[in-house]
Amino acid sequence: TQTKAPSVARGTSEPKGKAPPGHLAKKRQELLPIRQALPIWPHAQEIRQALRSPHKDVLLLVGETGSGKSTQVPQFLLSEPWCTGQIAITQPRRVAAISLARRVADEMGSTLGSSSPGSRVGYSVRFDQSVSPSTRIKFLTEGMLLQEMLRDPWLRQYSVVVVDEVHERSVNVDLVLGFLRNIVTGDKKGRGGKPLKVVVMSATADIESLQKFFEDGYRSASQHPISNGENAVTNGAEDSESSWSGISSSSEDEVPRSITSNKGEPNGVQLEDGSPTASISQCHIKGRQYPVKTMYLPDPTQDFVEAALNSIFQIHYKEPMPGDILVFLTGQDTVEGLEKLVNEYALGMGPEVPKIITLPLFAALPQHLQQRVFAPAPPKTRKVILSTNIAETSVTVTGVRFVVDCGKAKIKQFRNRLGLDSLLVKPISQSAAIQRQGRAGREAPGQCYRLYTEKDYSTLEKNTTPEILRCDLSAAILVMKARGISDVLNFPFLSQPPREALEKALLQLLQLGALSEAGEISDVGRTIAKLPLTPTLGRCLVEAAKPERNCLTEMIDIIAALSVENVFLNLVTEEKREEAEVARRQLYRREGDHMTFLATVRGYAEEKSDRKAWAERHYVSHRAMQNVMDIRKQLRGLCGQLSLPAADTEKSSEELTASVLQSLLRGFAANTARLMPDGSYRTLLGNQTIAIHPSSVLFGKKVEAIVFSESVFTSRSYARGVSAVRLDWVAGVLAGVDG
Ligand code: ADP
Repeated sequence: TQTKAPSVARGTSEPKGKAPPGHLAKKRQELLPIRQALPIWPHAQEIRQALRSPHKDVLLLVGETGSGKSTQVPQFLLSEPWCTGQIAITQPRRVAAISLARRVADEMGSTLGSSSPGSRVGYSVRFDQSVSPSTRIKFLTEGMLLQEMLRDPWLRQYSVVVVDEVHERSVNVDLVLGFLRNIVTGDKKGRGGKPLKVVVMSATADIESLQKFFEDGYRSASQHPISNGENAVTNGAEDSESSWSGISSSSEDEVPRSITSNKGEPNGVQLEDGSPTASISQCHIKGRQYPVKTMYLPDPTQDFVEAALNSIFQIHYKEPMPGDILVFLTGQDTVEGLEKLVNEYALGMGPEVPKIITLPLFAALPQHLQQRVFAPAPPKTRKVILSTNIAETSVTVTGVRFVVDCGKAKIKQFRNRLGLDSLLVKPISQSAAIQRQGRAGREAPGQCYRLYTEKDYSTLEKNTTPEILRCDLSAAILVMKARGISDVLNFPFLSQPPREALEKALLQLLQLGALSEAGEISDVGRTIAKLPLTPTLGRCLVEAAKPERNCLTEMIDIIAALSVENVFLNLVTEEKREEAEVARRQLYRREGDHMTFLATVRGYAEEKSDRKAWAERHYVSHRAMQNVMDIRKQLRGLCGQLSLPAADTEKSSEELTASVLQSLLRGFAANTARLMPDGSYRTLLGNQTIAIHPSSVLFGKKVEAIVFSESVFTSRSYARGVSAVRLDWVAGVLAGVDG
């Protein structure tokens, strides 16, 4: 019914003879015309064809955000003859992975994930996984795919890996691309000769660098065969083996399959016509983009939240309905701040004015609240979506006619002088501004309000610098080492990071004890690599599990709290802040923020009757705490699997505090500062001035030394997540680290 040609019929991705239950089938039918209207739909056959013959392994696909790449490509490929294993689709963000999985399940008339047998779509993100043995399409974050590669370097459970959103150029996507290039251009011995197809998708047109990247891979592989990390961590390989065969057989009855594709697959790369381009195809989806009228501020603004507030109401009063507003802000803090302001202002609107509904969207927002942005606005109501750059390319929201762009984003950047990554609010690039603007013209002509001047726009960088060129690489290198890559300096990077950055990261891993002097991964390093945490946090956890520290459960609680953006509510008025100060007093610990987090998590967890009320009473974010409890559970499970012991011997609270702080110090030895005679703090490595952030319970306090888990930079360097420690402890770990 959905097709013209028989080969297209297979692409409807429905198992023959297995109709989904009524309500699911109905939903699928409802969504079908929407899918068919997507710009990618007419390209279905071209996309299948591009990968069909045995030596066609790589497809580079370009199409505007919203053209249907993420949702349709896996469904197009599902019934291809070579597609006997699972389909992986990577996403830079967990939000996108989960919401896409949900959407694709709906479109296929399937249920989602682990709860229901027979479901064909699943997802896997940090601290949350929903897959079943029948899962065929799996959305996962880039980090999770890297984790899977540690268990099975050959990715044997997959027939194809779709790498989505490469234009975002996260460190992880660059790693994924490097590993995938090695697999597709190397011999397929580890895959039992079965091919692995790779689809690389981007919303921006620059795919020539990708083309060249894969060409180089084929070229050099034909000269020097590639080792795929023979000594990689393969202790999960047996599992993959069984799931491989499990999936092959379960899909047998579903997919009509020609037998041509996997037969006679030779070992090693064969360049059919002697040129590496033979294996690579390109497909360009012509997008639909309506004109977007762009407005600038006449003068620069100091306060983009206020400017955004003005723009929102200007649009709301002046512009006809329907037409939702999408506002780009920098992070959870500005999103929640503006949400409050808009809601307060909206209360003052007359009854003749249409209503406003505000919908926040940021990574740490719980799933069910994120999902609300996709629901159409109620009658006579305008949706105002307040988002971080998640909505720039990752998440497509329909109904948007107006975009308000603050021109900034929070980005992670390595700061040489501090020797660590900081989150900085920085101007976005022109290409990011264009992406944001484009969100207004998906369905009709739109408008974009840039909260900066036209002159400011002209000074923006053209493209966003790939993360791998500006961030701490220790996590990336640890993954490579765990994956058996001994020579990280010669890894196939899409953009080669500076040698200095690689060396610095190697040194940091050495200091953490994750690598040996010879650069080989240690047992500690292997354990850390399997944790979904940064190497520093991973090291804290491993330290806390040692018998002499014996505070694993406490460390898990602290790490869970550090993994969400804001445990404590951001309070706008002075009066509220004072009230909160009093209410939270019983949670505050003089040792600092980490022990305060521990007290908060414990207080919340021990509240059995009404946690929401408990959170409100203490001005703690119930939303964030729900996430904390999830993460805590996941980490506990993981530590169990990795045999990290959570012994529970009795300890005095003083001993416990000392253990926790010393474990933190082991990971964060580089993030320490001492008090100077003039009352300022200076980092012990690097001798840089750093101030305690006003949000810290130690703000304004003078202690001999501090350890901090985060640094932020606004007008100056701030330490956030700060604990007071003894100077001799710091000297102790630093001496150990140096020696
Ligand atoms: P691309 O990957 O090219 O950006 P997508 O496949 O993500 O495009 O999106 C295609 C369309 O599917 C979008 O226009 C959007 O309306 C719809 N869509 C995607 N995810 C969801 C979701 N979770 N809920 C509702 N609609 C969605």
